[in-house]
Amino acid sequence: MPELPEVESLAAFLRAHATGHAIARADAASFSVLKTFDPPLTSLAGQVITAVGRQGKFLDISTDQGLHLIIHLARAGWLRWREDLPSAPPKPGKSPLAFRLALEDGSGFDLTEQGTHKRLAVYLVHDPAEVPGVATLGPDPLAADFTADTLADLLSGRRMQVKGVLRDQHSIAGIGNAYSDEVLHAAKMSPFKIAASMTPDDVAVLYDAMKTTLTEAVERSAGLAAADLKGEKKSGLRVHGRAGQACPVCGDTIREVSFADSALQYCPSCQTNGKPLADRRLSRLLK
Ligand SMILES: [Zn+2]
Repeated sequence: MPELPEVESLAAFLRAHATGHAIARADAASFSVLKTFDPPLTSLAGQVITAVGRQGKFLDISTDQGLHLIIHLARAGWLRWREDLPSAPPKPGKSPLAFRLALEDGSGFDLTEQGTHKRLAVYLVHDPAEVPGVATLGPDPLAADFTADTLADLLSGRRMQVKGVLRDQHSIAGIGNAYSDEVLHAAKMSPFKIAASMTPDDVAVLYDAMKTTLTEAVERSAGLAAADLKGEKKSGLRVHGRAGQACPVCGDTIREVSFADSALQYCPSCQTNGKPLADRRLSRLLK
C-alpha cells in the first residue's frame, strides 16, 4: 500500500506534470471506484489543475473552479502516468484499470488496482472535508507543528499497542503497516509496547525515529517517476517484508507476526531484547 512517502512523491510528480493543464475528461472504469455523484465527473472537463497536495494517504487534486478530486489508492491501487493516454474512455470490465484522467495535451494518468478486493476510492467534492476519511485524519507527522509533545499527547493514556497507534489514521495521518514497522525498528522498540506505558524518553526516541524514517523515505523517492516509486519503497525498507533476512543493523534474523489479513516484521535483537514475539497464528497451528 502506498503510504505517506509514496503519496507525497506521487503528489510532487503530478504537481510537476499536471499543474496548469486543463482536464479533457475523467472516467471511472468500475462502478465501485467513484464514491460521490454530485458534482458529476463530466463537470471536470475544461477545468484547470491548480494544485496537487496530500492529506494522509489521500491525493488531493484541486481545480480552478474550486473542485477537489480526492484519490485513495488503498492496498493494491497505483497511479500510472502516461504521456500518450489512449483517447477512448476506459471500458468497464475485469481489467485492473479503475479510473482514467485525461488532460487536454494528451497526457494523463490511469489508476489501477490489482486483486479482487476493490478498495481504491475516488471522490469529487467542493471541500476535502466532505470525504469522511479526510475529515477524521489525525495530524500529519511531517508537519512543522507536529512536535514531540503532539506525539506524547496522542500516546498518553492509550491502552493500545504502539504499532496500532502509529497506523491509526485518526491518530496520525499517513503511516501504514510498512512504515510503522520501519519507525519501530529505527526506534528499537517492540511493536507490542503499550502506548500508555511509554516514558518521556521513549516518546522522544519514537518521535525522532518517526521524523527521520519518513523524511528519509520522502527524500529517497523525491524526483522519481511514478513508475519507479514501488521499487524504491521496497528497496528502502529495512525490516518490513523482510522476514527471514538479516537485520541491516545487527545481523539477527528478522521475524514476523501474522494476523488475519496482515503481518508485521521486526528484529528481535534490536527491538525485543532478543525474545521472539508471540505469533498467535503460529502457536495455534502448533497445538
Ligand atoms: Zn537488528
